[in-house]
Amino acid sequence: MSALHLGVDIGGTNIKFGVVDEAGRILLQRKTATGAQRGSDAIIASIVGEIEALLRDPLLLDRKPESIGLGVPGTADSASGVVVYAPNLFWRNVDLASAIQPVFHTPVFVAQDTRAAAWAEYLAGEGRGLRGLAAVTLGTGIGCGLVLDGKIFHGALNTAGEFGHQIVALDGEGCNCGRRGCLEAHAGGLAIVREAKKRIGGLDSLLGKDSSSVTVADVYRLSEENQPQARELTDSVVRFIGIGLVNLIDLTSVEMICLSGGMSNAPRHLLLDPLLDFVRRRAYESVSEKVRICRSTLGEDAPMIGAALLCRGIAGPAQAQPMREN
Ligand SMILES: [Zn+2]
Repeated sequence: MSALHLGVDIGGTNIKFGVVDEAGRILLQRKTATGAQRGSDAIIASIVGEIEALLRDPLLLDRKPESIGLGVPGTADSASGVVVYAPNLFWRNVDLASAIQPVFHTPVFVAQDTRAAAWAEYLAGEGRGLRGLAAVTLGTGIGCGLVLDGKIFHGALNTAGEFGHQIVALDGEGCNCGRRGCLEAHAGGLAIVREAKKRIGGLDSLLGKDSSSVTVADVYRLSEENQPQARELTDSVVRFIGIGLVNLIDLTSVEMICLSGGMSNAPRHLLLDPLLDFVRRRAYESVSEKVRICRSTLGEDAPMIGAALLCRGIAGPAQAQPMREN
């Protein structure tokens, strides 16, 4: 019988819990509001309470999860289990593994949510059987996790995967990170909304609502209806993300780009197909023909599934007695 693992995806709004098997199939799940303003002690107490509730499920009476993994929306030091900085949670240097492990006497693993998501795609999603992939989340911002040569890639300085903050326009638009010209500042959800308000004339009447509430989905709908400025905007998004992907593919030699996040649901002919075309024409020749671009089939469950399976991907904190890789 397949071993079970418990995964926690800590988001700025909700915390998702799930018990999955070795193949990443979800057997049980539950969800609670984060209440980020409560502070780390209260949030960790909630996480413990929810895990305890999950473990009381009849399905787990004689089958306990062999590890607990947590994905966090920020920088985490997987070697120590410490969350270094998670702005949406207002966390700095929170020793998450040490807070969870003694309660459950189970190995505990912690990683950035983007890396957990990439790990899920590699073990249980579209990337099964591959050696390297990038899981790119296109939402308000642009996130990315990398699996290279079959391992979660952290980087020597633990900052690998800052795909959204690569410079794609010298002295371009200002970014939340304090610099200019980042991919996210030109092609993230916030950037698309900002540019739509600036560039699309008569937006109120086109939308039939106040243009201040314009969404990325609205922009893609207008583009699909061939509204010229909206089409120009979605075309420019393809160019910027395309540049980012070509850089990423040429540097890392990944076999697959797996897209998730709200924007990945844009009509295929306005995002995915032209992106693939851009990559085919612009990436280094020997990889451009082979690399695939797909939508995630795990979707929003990816960070939770990947967190659950972290025991197979990272060594984890010393006290956690990591399982051997199989
Ligand atoms: Zn930036």
